[in-house]
Amino acid sequence: MSQTVQQKYETVIGLEVHLQLSTRTKIFCGCANVFGREPNTQTCPVCLGLPGTLPVLNKMALEYALKIAIALDCQINSVIKFDRKNYYYPDLPKGYQISQYDKPVAYDGHVWMTGADGQERKINIKRAHLEEDAGKLIHDERANCSLVDYNRTGTPLLEIVSEPELRSPQEAYDYLQALKLTLEYLRVSDCDMEKGSLRCDANVSIREAGAKTFGTKTELKNMNSFKAVRTALEFEEKRQREAAASGGRVIQETRLWSEEKGITIAMRSKEEAHDYRYFPEPDLVPFDIDEALIEELRRSIPELPRQKFERFTGEYRLSGYDARIIVADQHIAHFFEACAKLYADTKKICNWLNGPLLQELNARKMGFSGIKITPEDLIAIMRKVDQSELSNLAAKETLKQVLDTGKDVASVIRDAGLAQVSDSPALEGIVDELIHEHQTVVGQIREGKASAIGFLVGQAMRKSQGKANPKMIGEIIQRKLSGKSNA
Ligand code: ADP
Ligand code: MG
Ligand code: ZN
Repeated sequence: MSQTVQQKYETVIGLEVHLQLSTRTKIFCGCANVFGREPNTQTCPVCLGLPGTLPVLNKMALEYALKIAIALDCQINSVIKFDRKNYYYPDLPKGYQISQYDKPVAYDGHVWMTGADGQERKINIKRAHLEEDAGKLIHDERANCSLVDYNRTGTPLLEIVSEPELRSPQEAYDYLQALKLTLEYLRVSDCDMEKGSLRCDANVSIREAGAKTFGTKTELKNMNSFKAVRTALEFEEKRQREAAASGGRVIQETRLWSEEKGITIAMRSKEEAHDYRYFPEPDLVPFDIDEALIEELRRSIPELPRQKFERFTGEYRLSGYDARIIVADQHIAHFFEACAKLYADTKKICNWLNGPLLQELNARKMGFSGIKITPEDLIAIMRKVDQSELSNLAAKETLKQVLDTGKDVASVIRDAGLAQVSDSPALEGIVDELIHEHQTVVGQIREGKASAIGFLVGQAMRKSQGKANPKMIGEIIQRKLSGKSNA
């Protein structure tokens, strides 16, 4: 695409996020809300929509929805009302979905997000409503038939709809990250896109730069990671711009993202769109939301990422960079704070957390929750480095072994023989050997080439399997080679 086409148009994106709430039971019946069970084992007459059954709203689902509404600074409707959204599909046994139409739980909220430039931006939330999920169709290619699993039918969803205020695929990605982080802090969902507990439909249109009205949008579905949302939007943005630039027009339609082909494919146009014939759900009467309940829930909300970031950069004087990494995972944030109670140098704690510890966890493809190292262990390791009882290398090895075995720091150091050697006769012996083996380097040191000392220290670490105290080795080398030629 030419540069002029790039600049001529502006992209407009709005996202609809479906979040599966991690309640114990489904939204209108007592069936377990669990993922990954044998198909059709978590159902009852209510969620199967058998005649004569009646739905009862799950209080926890409502409370989770309200907590999210509070965390996103939404207005909360004083009356909760459910509506029937009618359509026919085999994964929807009732022939309608209980959703919310004109009185959603919440409206007019916002998500604070940080762009790649580090700037904060506020994206408005249009509405958030509760609804029940549908079942799952499994298309069996070999048997040439489709199977249906109703375990997911009737599990609680909160749909969170943004205003069309995102201006690039990257911004859409940043918005999703920020929203997900807040939701994770609230512990209302496992927010796992791969398991389908967080799903996102992306609406996108283009318009001439500076235009006041919106262009025709397409709605993209079937992305199963935030990266896929970004890539699908990039593809679609380009497709729409090229169409417009060559005199064509964008038609309003739903398009499916094909991860395999890397393209969006038209699925259904506006003409084929459903008329859902919404009407009030007669089996669930509207009811008032108690102000006291909202206050109680407000008090139960933990410190959210944005406040934590403020506090960590203030109270602990972390750089924005460090604070962002630490706050991006509440388990890390918790671990960090426990460490900061034990050790004053918070920058050093960050260096260990964001450095060796995260590297080790990434190498193991492990998350931070449930790890075998405690804040006390990490601080013990750091103190041993401070007191020259562990070299940096041995400290990292200790960390690794504590992570692997869950043994305490002292036993790991003892059992693996990792303690730093600061005993001078032993170190002197190593240096003597090195001086003997590396005459050229010795010559360079005598001529005043300081960097050559580093080489010998490195060799000493190697000879001692990382256990020699590098500072002492350096001192011994200098003493032995300073001017005197009889070393
Ligand atoms: P619809 O009635 O078609 O579902 P909504 O107004 O409910 O449309 O908006 C659905 C989503 O589409 C929202 O996230 C909104 O931000 C987004 N959206 C609406 N209009 C546009 C547009 N012209 N371009 C991009 N996104 C849009
Ligand atoms: Mg809509
Ligand atoms: Zn049920």
